[in-house]
Amino acid sequence: MLKIENLHANVGDKPILKGLTLSLNPGEIHAIMGPNGAGKSTLGYVLSGRPGYEVTEGSVTFQGQDLLSLAPHERAAAGLFLGFQYPVEIPGVSNVQFLRESLNAQRKGRGEAPLSGAEFLKIARAQAGDMGMDMDMLKRPVNVGFSGGEKKRNEMVQMGIIDPALAILDETDSGLDIDALRVVGDGINRIMRKPDKAVLLITHYQRLLDYVRPDFVHVLDGGRITRTGGAELALELERDGYKELAA
Ligand code: ADP
Ligand code: MG
Ligand code: MG
Repeated sequence: MLKIENLHANVGDKPILKGLTLSLNPGEIHAIMGPNGAGKSTLGYVLSGRPGYEVTEGSVTFQGQDLLSLAPHERAAAGLFLGFQYPVEIPGVSNVQFLRESLNAQRKGRGEAPLSGAEFLKIARAQAGDMGMDMDMLKRPVNVGFSGGEKKRNEMVQMGIIDPALAILDETDSGLDIDALRVVGDGINRIMRKPDKAVLLITHYQRLLDYVRPDFVHVLDGGRITRTGGAELALELERDGYKELAA
């Protein structure tokens, strides 16, 4: 699904990723944990193709394609979904419009015909229903005035509609209360825990992993993976901290 080899990347002139190697197979959920400033978000941005993040060495293959040679929208059309810590608010654009545009843009990238309003609404209704989201919220401007939990619910609806092959979720749990954590956890499990999909969960804390049990946990420190283990590694990190493990 995703093969990252010896990835080096700069932000501005500053080297942040320094030889990161990581592979995800279909059907796997991987968690990346690490101290503040380790380069976790940088990894997400580099994989999404965000401007300003320059790859200086290494390779990334996504479903057999050279990911780094694709433009950001091509990466999305190829099945990569990025979820970020702070979902953006878009006044003046309704949620339904936004979701339909995103889905149709990706379909276009794959050479598929756009969905009609009616076809799209059917999918959106089903996803919103699964996430326990009121249809009224689908008609409101994107994320405007949504609570933290509602934004996350919305992001899960978006992920369900897009139905990506690989989701990279960066600190999607930050600042969430227990109910919202469960919503996010349920969404990830329902949409992404499938034999042909994979998830890279970037998180500073262990608690989301109570809801989404990872198959592998990696420690990212100083721009590279310094340790890999199973779900129990996350508990160890929570108990002992990153410094202990680095020793
Ligand atoms: P994490 O998500 O693990 O907390 P980040 O990837 O956000 O870490 O940051 C890694 C390092 O890159 C930090 O030292 C941070 O200060 C630096 N960094 C991130 N973004 C920028 C930027 N736009 N300009 C300069 N330095 C940056
Ligand atoms: Mg951080
Ligand atoms: Mg970060």
